[in-house]
Amino acid sequence: MNQERSVRQIAKGIPTSDGAGVKLTRVIGNQYVRNLDPFLMLDEFKSDDKADYMAGFPMHPHRGFETVTYMLKGAFRHGDNQGNTGYLAPGSIQWMTAGRGIVHEEMPNQEDGPVWGFQLWVNLPSMHKMTAPRYQDIRPEDVPEVALENGKVKVLVGNFQGVEGPVEDVVTDPLYLDFHLDDGATQKVEVPLGKTAFVYVYQGSARLAGTDLPERHLGILGEGDYIEVSSQSPDTRLLVVAGDPIEEPVVQYGPFVMNTVEEVQQAIVDFNEGRF
Ligand code: MN
Repeated sequence: MNQERSVRQIAKGIPTSDGAGVKLTRVIGNQYVRNLDPFLMLDEFKSDDKADYMAGFPMHPHRGFETVTYMLKGAFRHGDNQGNTGYLAPGSIQWMTAGRGIVHEEMPNQEDGPVWGFQLWVNLPSMHKMTAPRYQDIRPEDVPEVALENGKVKVLVGNFQGVEGPVEDVVTDPLYLDFHLDDGATQKVEVPLGKTAFVYVYQGSARLAGTDLPERHLGILGEGDYIEVSSQSPDTRLLVVAGDPIEEPVVQYGPFVMNTVEEVQQAIVDFNEGRF
């Protein structure tokens, strides 16, 4: 590790709603940060009020990319048009490769109480966009947690100090880490050269390469092979995410993400004619 990554852009998450009216914070995929190749979207959903989440995300399609759901609190269940079902408990992660297409629903599995989690959209390169759909449903107990000198980290995807996350065979070779740091803790994290990378502080505040990142702020990282993050609050929590850029044209129409307008039009026809 010999080149520290800087913070080249800071952006605050934007309150919005999606699905059937779920209130959420859109961190990537808003008017300020449209696309961060290979990442298309990052949403944080957090509420103690069931009115904010109860409507859920009823049946909707996806084609051409992957959706990644990580739950902190509360539970969702999902079901798709191919008979796959799943249960997303607190601490679980679901890596769903939509590929050539699925139609699914993601609905709260509770009557009330808190819900807190993230959904990340990761693009697929053209040669993988029409791959067969695949789910990796990872139970909370299968996510390794590494104790740090002043905190801990959950290794969801990729590698941290030799500990490998449970999600396998992702084209963009991502890193997805969830840090909890005590006040004043300083932590070095390897973030390999050449990857697009960001930090999202979802609780408290942190400081990286001389830049303060307050709560609910995204820090888009410059090139390098590591970061050094220091916690500026008690129990600071942040995501460190990285992946290989795809460097292809992105044509997105809602839940269809392809390379050309014609491919998106074909996706709409295929969906309407029941071919997902
Ligand atoms: Mn979905």
